[in-house]
Amino acid sequence: MEAYCVKCRQKREMKDATETTMKNGKPATTGTCSVCGTKLFKIGKGTGAEAGAGAKGGGDGGK
Ligand SMILES: [Zn+2]
Repeated sequence: MEAYCVKCRQKREMKDATETTMKNGKPATTGTCSVCGTKLFKIGKGTGAEAGAGAKGGGDGGK
């Protein structure tokens, strides 16, 4: 997912996106900038595509 990086001053791909919940109970996503490593924060959940990348698949042992 993309999020605005205050250091790069533009949108960057978010690494290690993690869903979290703000104090007001609203969903948010945190991660790190793939370019400079600054912590990124985005209000709202991710699309789910990246969230499932590491969660599903694997474990079955293809070989
Ligand atoms: Zn950055």
